[in-house]
Amino acid sequence: MKRRMHALEPGAGRAYPGGMTEPRDVMVCIVGAGPVGGTLACRLAMAGIETAIVDRAPLSPMEHPAFDGRAYAVAAGPRRLLEAAGVWEKLPEPTCPILDIRVTDGRVGRAASPLHLHFAAREVGEAAGPFGWMVEARSLRVALNAHMAALPALQVFAPAEAHVERRADGAAVRVAGGPTIACRLVIAAEGRRSPLRDDAGIPVTRLPYGQTGIVCAVAHEKPHHNVALEHFLPSGPFAQLPMCATSGAPHGSAPHVSAIVWTERDRLARIMLGLDDARFAREIARRLGDHLGAVRPIGRRWSYPLAAMLAHRYIDTRLALVGDAAHGIHPIAGQGLNLGFRDVEVLAGLVIDAVAAGTDPGAPEVLVRYQRQRRPDNLAMLAATDALDRLFSNDSGVVRLARDLGIAAVHRTAPLKRMFMRQAMGA
Ligand SMILES: Cc1cc2nc3c(=O)[nH]c(=O)nc-3n(C[C@H](O)[C@H](O)[C@H](O)COP(=O)(O)OP(=O)(O)OC[C@H]3O[C@@H](n4cnc5c(N)ncnc54)[C@H](O)[C@@H]3O)c2cc1C
Repeated sequence: MKRRMHALEPGAGRAYPGGMTEPRDVMVCIVGAGPVGGTLACRLAMAGIETAIVDRAPLSPMEHPAFDGRAYAVAAGPRRLLEAAGVWEKLPEPTCPILDIRVTDGRVGRAASPLHLHFAAREVGEAAGPFGWMVEARSLRVALNAHMAALPALQVFAPAEAHVERRADGAAVRVAGGPTIACRLVIAAEGRRSPLRDDAGIPVTRLPYGQTGIVCAVAHEKPHHNVALEHFLPSGPFAQLPMCATSGAPHGSAPHVSAIVWTERDRLARIMLGLDDARFAREIARRLGDHLGAVRPIGRRWSYPLAAMLAHRYIDTRLALVGDAAHGIHPIAGQGLNLGFRDVEVLAGLVIDAVAAGTDPGAPEVLVRYQRQRRPDNLAMLAATDALDRLFSNDSGVVRLARDLGIAAVHRTAPLKRMFMRQAMGA
């Protein structure tokens, strides 16, 4: 079979071209071709492992600038994974390195507390490189979709529904209107509302925050010098993340551009999202401060309801959960996708080793090792981001004083500061 991307566009009728219903046999079938599932598919196929991936949505519309306004801060470890998966070099837009991070505490419209934390990547050592690279969600989708279509060991089915039957000795994935795929392992990468996780009866703990993440891009008068700002405000953190100016949408040709991730209580977020551009820009400036000069929102605004969640198990018979299907955290530290990439790194390593050793990549002992390696790490990050949000989204005078002193203490304690920096780099 030559053509590996099996697209079924609306209106084409739910049938694949001739031969498309013939049964297939692969090692791994992934359900969900988002950033996590897509990267895992590329990583496995690059290692020569026969893989299939199914997404219920058509893939190319997700590349449109209006589909997802997020930009991810990708840490060094996940960057290496994207390189090994052959995705990094295919990113169509330049990535923007984060060289410094400034953390401050404050109130809307007032100057930030003079007690702040400044992390400079160079303090960790030359070899450590930047804290991370800003990558637009859209750019990642473009690279993934192009790469998935070109990999000989990967079969892509989208848009298509998958019906999964799992038994102790293997699994079968029936692609609606397409083939039935026999495989050793099914991977649920369908995001937070994972039907495969629910069908397996895996319970989930959810922690709603009553906050909304407002995401947009701003052009500003002065350069950002690759500094990211995290400004903790009583109703939630406000982050400015440096972006490269590109010729394409949504930035237009503005020379100095940043992404904004602004957490606000739900009620206030609705008001902010309804403001006209001039008033919206004023509200951003009240939170950002004046160090970047005048700011102007560019492109549209996106909003995401914020909640943390954790699946009680990451595995079941012939099934593993990855990415947001397994865990979701507060975007306060920009680590959600990085955790998903670490799941991919561990699971791909275990599958590749099992196949190389001629053993079963979906065997219970492989899955138990995956869960053991990933669940505690994800739980620790969930707890840390949750604690940070609760500590900083609090306007009590005592708590404010304690955290300002904490910020100042970390700033003065070099080993502690280096530890935080290495953590942020994913080291
Ligand atoms: C405001 C905000 C800012 C963020 N910023 C950052 C950041 O800076 N850095 C970072 O690391 N993370 C960040 N995150 C988190 C990040 O966006 C998520 O962790 C990431 O999108 C998860 O990817 P995923 O592939 O697991 O799931 P998703 O992106 O949800 O993709 C799931 C895929 O599965 C498909 N699908 C769904 N159901 C089915 C089905 N039944 N059958 C087949 N396919 C299906 C969907 O079409 C989709 O393609 C942020 C999140 C928010 C809300």
